[in-house]
Amino acid sequence: MVAEAYTGRFAPSPTGPLHFGSLVTALASFLDARAHHGRWLLRIEDIDPPREVHGAAATIARQLDAHGLHWDGEILYQSRREALYRDALLRLAASGLLFLCDCSRDRLRRPGGNYDGACRHRILTGSDPGGSGFSVRIRTSDAPEILFTDCLLGRTASINLGDAGGDFVLRRRDGLFAYQLAVAVDDAAQNITHVVRGHDLLESTPRQMFLLRELGMPVPIYGHVPVVLDAAGRKLSKQNHAPELDPRDAADNLYRALTWLGQNPPQEAANASITELLGWARQHWSRQAVWHGRAPNITESTITSRQYGKKV
Ligand code: GLU
Repeated sequence: MVAEAYTGRFAPSPTGPLHFGSLVTALASFLDARAHHGRWLLRIEDIDPPREVHGAAATIARQLDAHGLHWDGEILYQSRREALYRDALLRLAASGLLFLCDCSRDRLRRPGGNYDGACRHRILTGSDPGGSGFSVRIRTSDAPEILFTDCLLGRTASINLGDAGGDFVLRRRDGLFAYQLAVAVDDAAQNITHVVRGHDLLESTPRQMFLLRELGMPVPIYGHVPVVLDAAGRKLSKQNHAPELDPRDAADNLYRALTWLGQNPPQEAANASITELLGWARQHWSRQAVWHGRAPNITESTITSRQYGKKV
């Protein structure tokens, strides 16, 4: 394989320990990076204190280590980077794209609707509105179609942000910076070239691409991994009490995660050490195998799932 400049990352929110679903995502981004002779960074997305669990960031780092997923360089903590997010917000405000919104939750929850632009007249000019009781949204009505190719799916989708939830939040009403803004700013600041993450974040991708373009920052390549569901068909998550990864079962967990990712590890590897398993996996990493035999249906309708309130 030809060496190319590649920097990937794993960016968990410290809302609890890692579970099998998060291992699948971490492993996919790790292997994609290592198979391309790339760097792999760890970023802790601790910008939402009400959702955080004390000690979770340290637990996550220990769990990754125990599974042989060693990151390069220092861990980056988003909680220390507010100044950068504020700068980016003010730069976007200077382009006249931001406005203050005080729409009620009930109004925003209208079924099937995109944000209707009710507050667009309240344009944010220059000053920092943090914690004023208004959220800050970005206008998407004039956004160009976003064309994006998923490097794992090998498919391209064309997304009109105005129809995919519409204007979205960059700063919450409680003054906290929204996920979309912080991720976009940090992916650029860390020179991330490839973002490999769960399919549940698919609808965030065009939003982040849009922000990066408006900020004049480089846009990475994106790839989405199938999400692991529990027996009830819900995404495995800390909120749904998915069991935490046990480092004593690291090799077994990795073997199962490789199988989930369609990598087809040999039967003999079932008893291999984590170093051997990861060595095999890095050498045989296949992007095509990840979605093989699964139907992701990556279309505009997937992305227009009207959940603009979901991940802010
Ligand atoms: N912090 C986000 C989460 O844990 C993931 C962010 C990303 O990979 O872009 O859901």
